[in-house]
Amino acid sequence: MTTPTRDAILQWVDAHQADVIGLAQSLVRIPSENKPPHGSEKACQMFVAEILRDIGCRVDVFTPPEVVGLTEHPAYWPGRDYTDRPNVVGVMSPQPEGPVGKAAGRKSLLFTGHIDVVPAVGQGKYTWWDGTIEDGRLYGRGANDMKGGIATYLMAARCIRELGFELKGDLILETVVDEEFGGAHGSLACCLRGYNADLAILSEPNNMLVSTAHRGGQQFRLFTCTEGVGMGFGDTILRDPVTALGHLLAALDRYNEERNARPRPKGFENDVFPLMPFLLRSGELLPWGTGEAIPDTAWVEFWIEIPPGVTEEQLKSELRGVVAQATEVTPTLQRVTTRWEERTRFLAGSSMADDHPLVGVLATNLAAVTGQPPAFGPAPFACDGFIFNLHSPTPVVIVGPHGANAHAPDEWVSVADLVALTKTYALTIADWLI
Ligand SMILES: [Zn+2]
Repeated sequence: MTTPTRDAILQWVDAHQADVIGLAQSLVRIPSENKPPHGSEKACQMFVAEILRDIGCRVDVFTPPEVVGLTEHPAYWPGRDYTDRPNVVGVMSPQPEGPVGKAAGRKSLLFTGHIDVVPAVGQGKYTWWDGTIEDGRLYGRGANDMKGGIATYLMAARCIRELGFELKGDLILETVVDEEFGGAHGSLACCLRGYNADLAILSEPNNMLVSTAHRGGQQFRLFTCTEGVGMGFGDTILRDPVTALGHLLAALDRYNEERNARPRPKGFENDVFPLMPFLLRSGELLPWGTGEAIPDTAWVEFWIEIPPGVTEEQLKSELRGVVAQATEVTPTLQRVTTRWEERTRFLAGSSMADDHPLVGVLATNLAAVTGQPPAFGPAPFACDGFIFNLHSPTPVVIVGPHGANAHAPDEWVSVADLVALTKTYALTIADWLI
C-alpha cells in the first residue's frame, strides 16, 4: 500500500471516530436477544442491511433454513426456530453479480460476527440498551459480545468506499444470527450459500489478540434419579440422588484436574480448561420455606471447555467414563440411575495455519495502529470459528476489542479499541484488495 493511501485511511477514521462509536451504540440500542429456540435479531439485521446498501454493497438477506444443504450438513443441530431471523451479507466486488470470493476465483476477504446477544438478565449499574459511554467504555448488552466488533468492520468498509478505492477482489461483510447457546447455523448457512474467502476475520472480543486458534466446549446436564421414596421410612438403605450427585460433582472435579495436567496443543500450553457448574437443582421448596422428602431427581448443569483436536466422541466417552468409574466404587451411586442431556451442540475447538500471509498483514497493521508489538495467542472461548476452519474452505482468524462482563450485567467494550480496530481492518482491506 502506498503511503498516501495509508495516510488517507488513518485520517478518515480519525475524522470519523464519533461515527464508529455511534454505530456501535446504535447496534447496542436495537435488542437482538437469543432465547433458544427463538431469537429476535430481525430489527438489528434490517438496520445492518440498510448500512450495507448505503455503502454500495450488494446485499443478501436469508434465513439459515433457506440455504440448500443446511439441514443435511453434519454440523446441523436440530431444534432451533429461524422464523424472522435473517442472516445479512453485503458484498463489495468488482463484478456486479455472479459468484463471489473463492467461488469466483477472486482475491477475497470476509468479515464476520454474530448479531445475537444473550438475554438481558440481572441488574448492573448501567442500563442494557442505552449504549452509555463512561470513562472510555461503551456499556450495554452486546457492546462487548459482539456489536462493538461488528461496528468496526462495517466502518472499515465505509472508509474504503468513501475514499473511492477500487477493489481488485471481493470484500464480504456478514452479520449472522444464532451464535449464542451454540447456535452456529448462521455462520454455517453463509458458508453453504457460497460466501467463502481467502480469510475470514471474526471480531469476537479477544482483547486485541491475533488468534489463529480458539477453544471449544459443550454444555450438559447430568441427572441422578430414583423412584420416589418420600421419607424412606423403614428403608435400611436409602436411595438418595442428592448425595449421589455430590459424588459425581467431586468426580468431575478430579477429572478436570487430571485432564488439565495433560500436555496441551501448541499455543494452549498455559491455558486452563474449566469445567463450570452453572446450575444445581433438587427437591421442592415448600411455601413455608423448607423441604420435606427425599427428591427423586437431582441435576447439575455445567459447561466444559476443550482445546482443538478433542472430538465429540472423545469428550462424551471421557465424561461417561467419569460416571462409570465413580459408580463402580460408590455404593450411593449404585443405588440411583444417571442420565445425560446435551444443553448445547458440541462446539469444536479449531485452528488455522498461523503462517497465512494475510494473518501477517493483519498483525502488522494492528501493531502499526496500536504502537504495540502484536500479541498472538488462542482465543479463550468457544465460538463460530470452527464452522470456518472445520466445515468451510475459509480459514478464520479472531481479532477483537478489549472489554469485559460478556454474558453478565455491565458488559462493556473499549471505545479506543473500536477506533484502532476500524483502522486495522481498513488498512488490511486495502493491503489485500486494492
Ligand atoms: Zn460472541
